[in-house]
Amino acid sequence: MNVYKFGGASVKDAEGVRNLFNIVNTQKENLIIVVSAMGKMTDALEVLCNAYFRKEGDVAQAFQHVKDFHQHIIKDLFGSSSPETDRLVNPLYAELEQILRGEPSLSYDYEYDRIISFGELFSTTIISAYLEKQGRKAKFIDIRKCLITDQNYRNACVNLELSAQLCRKTFTFQDTFMYITQGFIAGTTTSQTTTLGREGSDYTAALLANLLDAEDVTIWKDVPGIMNADPKLYEDTEIIGKLSYKEAIELSNCGAKVIHPKTIKPLQNKGIPLYVRSFLYPGSHGSVIRELDEKLKLPPIFIDKGNQLLLTLSPRDFSFIAEEKLSRIFAILAKYRLRLNLIQTSAISFSFCIDLNEAIFDSFINELHEEYEVLYNKNVRLLTIRHYTEDIIHKLTDHRNILVEQRSRLTARFVVASN
Ligand code: ASP
Ligand code: MG
Repeated sequence: MNVYKFGGASVKDAEGVRNLFNIVNTQKENLIIVVSAMGKMTDALEVLCNAYFRKEGDVAQAFQHVKDFHQHIIKDLFGSSSPETDRLVNPLYAELEQILRGEPSLSYDYEYDRIISFGELFSTTIISAYLEKQGRKAKFIDIRKCLITDQNYRNACVNLELSAQLCRKTFTFQDTFMYITQGFIAGTTTSQTTTLGREGSDYTAALLANLLDAEDVTIWKDVPGIMNADPKLYEDTEIIGKLSYKEAIELSNCGAKVIHPKTIKPLQNKGIPLYVRSFLYPGSHGSVIRELDEKLKLPPIFIDKGNQLLLTLSPRDFSFIAEEKLSRIFAILAKYRLRLNLIQTSAISFSFCIDLNEAIFDSFINELHEEYEVLYNKNVRLLTIRHYTEDIIHKLTDHRNILVEQRSRLTARFVVASN
């Protein structure tokens, strides 16, 4: 059995859905198709959620946008009148509308998951109807009933044992050889909707592959494979044909966008290969991440992470930065759900880089201010070079204002001011 994951970019319009059909239509083995929300729908639903919960903007307008976007794709795929798709999507619109008509509860994260999850529900509903119309029926599974999580809304943790039981009962391949289901979303034992963190559909694909012992996972993307740098930012980029799990984890942890960081572990644990291939050129090989015995000679790999916030904290009382101080700082970071992208300590200061989030910036800084002198640089970039050479470092950092520099045997990292 294989798992195919299609991200938002691959199904951003009717053309993308037709392309998905062409790809799965050539498949001869048992298959689970995992799909994200179409295009930038998750962002659009965030706008809707903020309008609803925080009263930022117009709920009716944001809802109309969600509806128009999907209706446009439906019209293109099925023609103007389509009772069979109306029958499928209208209950979803009605359910969402019903939520929006009520008063929000006190929990933003809970409401967020309730609303955001509609992106994946719409996409899988529309795509499965299209596959059926084309004569390739894929059994529709509501993943919230078999991927069970705790109630940590927006970043829920999967109960592997329970989910394994339910998934094995659901994906039996007895009466079908193709299933379609949602990435990113899940459910609790009390049937509340949860999500696994933004961009979490890759993780869903990896989890299902692990729980159901898939042969491999393929992520269909708009890039030809895993590249050694973002081709939009750098010239002369190349595809890396093979990577070890370990290298892939390092890369995604440094901010490489090609795969979600949580994706690799479930696959590594069972030795399941992960293919990254282009949905635009389905005939080309792309890249594979797998257990590799041989020592690969990899080219320098660059990861350029923008929109960073660099902070330096010094205790007001001039005490040293020791374990107790660090644990306080880490508790504050955890409270704001901030992930450290880089840290550097000295005796009396602690510097770190996190993704800049303007929404919480003021309260986060104020909290740190109680104990620390806080210096910060907004909008800096974090540049990582794996398998670096001196020449490459020179080429990439020359003329740049370097604020922090760190090197290990394989990795050089620089926090630089944005140009
Ligand atoms: N639709 C979700 C997001 O955009 C999940 C995903 O795309 O993987 O974050
Ligand atoms: Mg997406």
